Amino acid sequence: MKLELQLFAVPFRKVSKTRGRKRRTHYKISENATVTCPKCGSAVRGHRVCPSCGTYKGKEVIKEKEAE
Ligand SMILES: [Zn+2]
Repeated sequence: MKLELQLFAVPFRKVSKTRGRKRRTHYKISENATVTCPKCGSAVRGHRVCPSCGTYKGKEVIKEKEAE
């Protein structure tokens, strides 16, 4: 019988909640990552539906929130 072992790079020890969270304190959206919505003018992340007016690329209405 032939044993085939696949070895992966394994973290030496667990990264604690605190340590992982501390590292991620630098993960934030820069202002450059936002685009102005052509319909309502609010700052929107690029390539995403505008959360305030529900449009994408200015025209397509994807979700209707106002009916609530
Ligand atoms: Zn909008």
